[in-house]
Amino acid sequence: MIGENVGKKLNKYVEDYVVFDLETTGVSTKSDEVIEISAIKVSSGRVADEFSTLVNPLRPIPYQASRVNGITDSMVKNSPDFKAALGAFLDFTGNQVLVGHNIHTFDLKFIRRDAMNFWNMGIANDYVDTLPLARACLPKLKSYSLTNLASHYGIRVSDAHRALGDCRMNQQVFEHLGREIKNPAPEAGTAFTCPQCGQLMQRRKGRFGEFWGCTGFPDCRYTQNV
Ligand SMILES: [Zn+2]
Repeated sequence: MIGENVGKKLNKYVEDYVVFDLETTGVSTKSDEVIEISAIKVSSGRVADEFSTLVNPLRPIPYQASRVNGITDSMVKNSPDFKAALGAFLDFTGNQVLVGHNIHTFDLKFIRRDAMNFWNMGIANDYVDTLPLARACLPKLKSYSLTNLASHYGIRVSDAHRALGDCRMNQQVFEHLGREIKNPAPEAGTAFTCPQCGQLMQRRKGRFGEFWGCTGFPDCRYTQNV
């Protein structure tokens, strides 16, 4: 498709990134709209800047959505529309790696859809989804929700389900996951990284039995025997 330009999914820790989160009118990436977008810029593992705006979705916010995030029609009536908000977010983000929780299946779909609608433009930033990263680093956890990961690491949860609060939690969770990746606990069988590209390795089944394969496949084809 013309204008389609999609960044690569990375399964590793990076120390320069922008963590972002959306609140929306619902879960459908076809029919729902963004009502808040927030982001935190991190440089060398340290918080450098924050971005947050409510968004007027130009339609009523369903009660179900307001009940989750507390955002109501009257709160967004004087807010920018998403074309203005997404433009400001993309200016803030530049070409940094995007980080977020469940962004591969949710948040990125919204911003890709709307960047395509507004400007016929793809989102070319590479990205790290902390949901599969957490699953690989902490295989024994019962729930991989952001709030559960935060409580696992003893991170104070405030403003959960508002975009900036979730970004702050997600940023700290990502730094903890980064430490798991840098200092793996081999007895837990986790967070083993590819010596060629630094992304997580995963156990795979092949024709000749099990082996370790890089999650960067097909860009990285590194494998190792189990
Ligand atoms: Zn690799």
